[in-house]
Amino acid sequence: MSNIQIPQSMLPEDGRFGSGPTKIRPAQMQALNDAFPHLLGTSHRQTPVKQLVASLRSGLSEFFSLPDGYEVVLGNGGASAFWEIICANLVTRKAACGVYGSFTKKLAQSIQTAPFLEDPVIYACDPGNYKLPEYTEHVDCYCWAHNETSTGVAAPVERVPGSTEQNALTLIDATSGAGALPVDIAQTDAYYFSPQKAFGAEGGLWVAILSPAAIDRAEHIQQGVGLAGSTRWIPPFLSLTSAIENSRKNQTLNTPALATLVLMENQVRYLNEQGGLQWATARCQRSASIIYDWAEQSDYASPFVTDPKARSQAVVTVDLDASVSDQAVLAALRDNGIVDVNSYRKLGRNQLRIGVFPSVEPDDVRALTKCIDYVVERL
Ligand SMILES: *Cc1c(COP(=O)(O)O)cnc(C)c1O
Repeated sequence: MSNIQIPQSMLPEDGRFGSGPTKIRPAQMQALNDAFPHLLGTSHRQTPVKQLVASLRSGLSEFFSLPDGYEVVLGNGGASAFWEIICANLVTRKAACGVYGSFTKKLAQSIQTAPFLEDPVIYACDPGNYKLPEYTEHVDCYCWAHNETSTGVAAPVERVPGSTEQNALTLIDATSGAGALPVDIAQTDAYYFSPQKAFGAEGGLWVAILSPAAIDRAEHIQQGVGLAGSTRWIPPFLSLTSAIENSRKNQTLNTPALATLVLMENQVRYLNEQGGLQWATARCQRSASIIYDWAEQSDYASPFVTDPKARSQAVVTVDLDASVSDQAVLAALRDNGIVDVNSYRKLGRNQLRIGVFPSVEPDDVRALTKCIDYVVERL
């Protein structure tokens, strides 16, 4: 126990500021309750669950204003599974990757270890900024992350000039960016994410918005077109064509967590009712600037990402002066019901990391900054 008690009146209404899993709204829990017993505990191959998946897919189509021919595809395993799906189904021979944190690095490593792919071309920089892949000959996929959750860096999502002419795909890890950062889906061929960040649901699922070119690529690779040698072994669980076929029928290859679907469907419906992507991104921007402004004025805290253009409005990272221990601050906050504002472990900095996804109230973010000040003054 830290023995610092923050006055009740100063506390945020909800103390969850994690970067994933994130705050789940009470209305989502109500939706879960309402789904019992006609939906929870029933077959995912029957109409009620298929209707739920259909509603989720059409809600996401509306939310992201899908261009013609783009499809919402989903399956089990989270964004981490989609990295392996990229290796097995979307990279023909060689990818170029932007690497600027733990998540971007993981995809690059998967591609590197896939025995049937050439080594990816890596465009890297130190944590705290982003590095986009540049035009590279013989590359058929360009990969980077919209939001690098490990560092609080947001990157632009725009096709690499010349990439369309070389028939290369643009694959964006949007796990923590989707729903929090503005995006023009037409600039991507796969925009993929998990439900437990901006969509405030449980983990376990991946969702990918696929362009006609990405769907085409998956079909060709499944048939062996363009591959050196014979057809590639694609583990059935990682088959993107099978995920596409199932999604078109509002199903998943194998049994999904129905609770995740219920929570996410409710969140997408809520976001669309509030004003869609524009509303969500404006709200995140408001919350994020409360923290950046506070940190810039603070005498013990400062934004970790120095270039304002690279600063995320979904996950905000704030370095603390060496005289203020993040562990002590975290412990005191947790004692008062404020949780998960720890930095990404492997980044190894004296830092707080605050998730300001659409479900988080900007007023709660303001209260959080005051609570941090209160704690630091008393450490
Ligand atoms: C959280 C996260 C992942 C991993 O998502 P899982 O659902 O745990 O597989 C991947 N990429 C980014 C950018 C993330 O924030």
